[in-house]
Amino acid sequence: MTGRSLAYLANVDVDNVKGIGPKAFQKLRGAGIESVADLLLHAPRRYLDRSELFDLASVPLGEEVTVAGVVTETSKRRISGRRTMVEAVVKDGTNVLRCVWFNPYIKIAVGEELAFSGKVVRRMGRLEMKSPDIDRLDSDSLITARIVPVHPSVGGLRPHQMRQSIHNALVRARPVAEILPEELLDRLDLMDRDTAISSVHFPEAMSEARAARHRLVFDELFRLEIALAMRKQRQIDDSEGIAHPMHGDLLDSFVASLPYELTGAQVRAIDEIRTDLARPHPMHRLLQGEVGSGKTVVAVGALLSVVQGGYQGAVMAPTEVLAVQHYLGTVDLLQQAGLASESGEFASDSLFGDITSKSGGSVVVALVTSNQVALSSEPDATRTDVLAAIASGDVDVTIGTHSLIQEGISFSNLGLAVVDEQHRFGVYQRVQLKEKGTDGEPDLLIMTATPIPRTLSMTLYGDLDVTVLDEMPPGRTPVRTITVSNDAAAIKPVYDLVRNEVAAGRQAFVVCPLVEDSDKLEATSATTEYERLVRVFPEMTVGLLHGQMRPADKDAVMHQFRDGAIDVLVATTVIEVGIDIPNATVMIIEDADRFGLSQLHQLRGRVGRGRFSATCVLIADPTTEDGEARIAAMVATTDGFRLAEEDLRIRGQGTVFGVRQAGVKDLKLADIVRDAQVLFQARKEAFALVATDPRLVEHPAISAEIQALMGDDVEWLFRS
Ligand code: ADP
Ligand code: MG
Repeated sequence: MTGRSLAYLANVDVDNVKGIGPKAFQKLRGAGIESVADLLLHAPRRYLDRSELFDLASVPLGEEVTVAGVVTETSKRRISGRRTMVEAVVKDGTNVLRCVWFNPYIKIAVGEELAFSGKVVRRMGRLEMKSPDIDRLDSDSLITARIVPVHPSVGGLRPHQMRQSIHNALVRARPVAEILPEELLDRLDLMDRDTAISSVHFPEAMSEARAARHRLVFDELFRLEIALAMRKQRQIDDSEGIAHPMHGDLLDSFVASLPYELTGAQVRAIDEIRTDLARPHPMHRLLQGEVGSGKTVVAVGALLSVVQGGYQGAVMAPTEVLAVQHYLGTVDLLQQAGLASESGEFASDSLFGDITSKSGGSVVVALVTSNQVALSSEPDATRTDVLAAIASGDVDVTIGTHSLIQEGISFSNLGLAVVDEQHRFGVYQRVQLKEKGTDGEPDLLIMTATPIPRTLSMTLYGDLDVTVLDEMPPGRTPVRTITVSNDAAAIKPVYDLVRNEVAAGRQAFVVCPLVEDSDKLEATSATTEYERLVRVFPEMTVGLLHGQMRPADKDAVMHQFRDGAIDVLVATTVIEVGIDIPNATVMIIEDADRFGLSQLHQLRGRVGRGRFSATCVLIADPTTEDGEARIAAMVATTDGFRLAEEDLRIRGQGTVFGVRQAGVKDLKLADIVRDAQVLFQARKEAFALVATDPRLVEHPAISAEIQALMGDDVEWLFRS
């Protein structure tokens, strides 16, 4: 292997590059480009192919193109209250192009020569581009080349300065050493690294630029997947788990008692979980399933599997309302099965010799939140009683909010932690719950109704095993989704629908417009809407629910709605997660285009949970392309996975379904949507390599590169 390694170049400060003085160094550092390696991996975001610059006279309409010209006029003005429009007139020779942006931060000046990339349309006889990308065409020696790299601008550095610095860095640093074996390069048809690092910046042809980028994307994803594979291996090596005994009759009698057959997906999920539970190392499994796919039964099945072996289980829900709902639902299921007594009868001791096992009629469930406690075996239990019963092991399953980890609750022998809707908790709490075990690290089951595209679960959750409940219980009709404009004529039939449904005994939700960053304003607008709807529906009982209400009042309203005492519930997004009202059949969402896809999907999931067919009405007049795309996606499908993929496409990978992605946001080149196939490849190769060489001792170059480029996050993986 010859040449300088990226690991080495990662330790050379970028101010060693000719042309980067102290000022530029400051700017680059501020933007995360500290080393020569960082600079070399700062790939162009686009290339301008001079041979493909179009003349306005012959530009094809409606296609992605780049044109260049001189700015002759600019203007900036406010339109419709919130929005600002920036306009520029551009001339190339004799033809004129009008460009518009709805972005107040666009800054261009008369006389600048610029390239504009986007779609040209003809409007009222004039050529026009909406929100084109802008590149400055300065004159410098490097751009006499046919293909001009356009690097992401960094800290105000001029594009030509960036190009020149990278050029200088390449001259000094090359050749750059290869780290992948010849065999792998051949098999996956990857360009060698030295060529790739050079060609990504200064390609001779677009095909070369593509091949170079492909190689660097592979490298980036390969590093990430190696780190994830090593993390997973370390979790197995470092932790002592509990090999749960899997015999006993609790689970069987529970399943037999259900008023329905488990779906195939539920059976598979319970099997996979039980296989994990029986293993001596801790489970880290993500259970994904659409709203209504029946995750609760799977979770209860898993809990009973450890309870029958003498261990305790815990369920952590994201909100108090959901914790209570889980508690009531679980106790209900167990009572149906004759497994939970309401008397003070506690579990008997061993039925199986040395194993303390549970059998019928004796599963004790507790609820612990910061506001309330409950114990299925003892209706009058105080907080002190409940905590003591958990600590002594008398409680089998404890359900709560994060007070489970915050309030210093001690368990006697926690064997399984179930975390519902985990992305609201984050990794930190995951770790804390795991520390509650005494015999060994408890197994961990994370449940989420957030559909996570496979590309994301391979990165964000790369160290978790994934079970997907991909089958809905039979007899559900998908929610019908329609969209209407926000005007009285369009909304009238919607209100008629509400009247008809309520007359037939059903109920409706009306979700009020989102007010970002102000719960107070949101509450006010919900209250106003409530007062209006009280007048629209004088014959009905209308209720109000928002985040500023006291917890007790919220609970009371939820109870009334659940009991049917309220017909129409006007609410903010506090109802987003998990609320189960099978009798509700209409979901109206106002200003729907302002909500994210994940929120819309969650809200729609609040209806269609019973045997009645349901309708979701999106009141929307989208003003942005994204808003329009979100509404269209909602109308087109109820499939959460497809919506999540769509969300990923619309919003890019920075945030998907509201999840900020550590790890993924660190990707500089790769785009997990566009590069999904490369991701799958890189993952396969990375996991295969780590399987044969868990600490990379046989692969020192790869090991050094990952440590040098990924920094503190991975350091622990290499400690012995
Ligand atoms: P999730 O938590 O995944 O949103 P739940 O566990 O709350 O879904 O289940 C939704 C509803 O479906 C519940 O009323 C439950 O009783 C019912 N259900 C679950 N599994 C089945 C099944 N296999 N067949 C019929 N109904 C089921
Ligand atoms: Mg649920």
